[in-house]
Amino acid sequence: MLWTSSAGWLPLGVGLASAAAVYGAGCLWLHRRLRHLQNILRQIRTHDFEDLAPPAAPEGDELGTLLWEVYRTGQSLEDEIQELKEMESYRREFIGNVSHELKTPIFSVQGFAETLLDGALDDESVNRTFLEKILHHANRLDNLARDLSTITKIETDELNMSGEAFSVMDLCEAALESVEMRAEERNVHPRMEIAPNLPDVYGDFDRLRRVLVNLVDNAIKYNEEGGSVWLQAEMKDGDVELRVVDNGIGIPEKHQSRLTERFYRVDKSRSRHQGGTGLGLAIVKHILGAHDRALHVDSTPGEGSIFRFSLSTRPTSSLHPA
Ligand code: ADP
Repeated sequence: MLWTSSAGWLPLGVGLASAAAVYGAGCLWLHRRLRHLQNILRQIRTHDFEDLAPPAAPEGDELGTLLWEVYRTGQSLEDEIQELKEMESYRREFIGNVSHELKTPIFSVQGFAETLLDGALDDESVNRTFLEKILHHANRLDNLARDLSTITKIETDELNMSGEAFSVMDLCEAALESVEMRAEERNVHPRMEIAPNLPDVYGDFDRLRRVLVNLVDNAIKYNEEGGSVWLQAEMKDGDVELRVVDNGIGIPEKHQSRLTERFYRVDKSRSRHQGGTGLGLAIVKHILGAHDRALHVDSTPGEGSIFRFSLSTRPTSSLHPA
């Protein structure tokens, strides 16, 4: 049919005009979304994650889905970069701490060896003392190497825990056996106070022995000569609670929440003098964490400290690498 009258052109004109308007709006909408996509990609490229804006519309068509995919990629990249930055700053801090810890014993060993070689070797009044000092600092280095190896294994997930059943008495006896020498040197005689008929507990025997050794060792180190240390165990809320109690120097409250941080010490010179590495309680925290348990401390300066944690009396499936 032929449109001959002007009235016939009108609907066609309106139709074309509205098609053009729809086309124009469509182009604008597409343009806006493509610009958004371009912006997100540019922000990802320049690591400018702070202003990363989510797409306004929910996923729908292919372009909407693509926008969300790119936005989510930006978010996960941001998380990964943040994690890498934290690891890098932790690594730097750790290396700084380790080299600081190594310096003093290495300088001391060098210094005393040089003094001996320069003539003190023939001086009966000092040669033995200097050799003892060299041995003391070599022992410090040995402790540090061991603790560093443990903490590195823990932090790289190499420390797999076993979950066997064992008696609390066996655990406490094994721990006390390991600190016997240190206790004798300091004239401290740790006493066991284990409640009768305790059920077996579940966990990694060797790692938990290490926990008790570190705690009892501290209770001896941060005590007066001849002081007292108790290793106690009793039922509490269906678990066995273990406590290492001492009547030593105690810990001011402001330090208590930071004790399990790597290399954190209340009295640095006392710790170093006693061969401490500042890693003992960090190791304890990790091992207990792998058993889903926490370390608690109650302490009063000048009166003493109580370090406590509990162990499960039921087989636990939740053991995981520290
Ligand atoms: P260190 O090798 O220095 O003993 P730890 O991580 O075992 O390191 O302990 C951290 C710090 O906590 C110690 O340097 C010490 O100041 C304090 N501390 C730990 N246990 C005791 C305790 N039983 N009494 C007093 N202070 C303690």
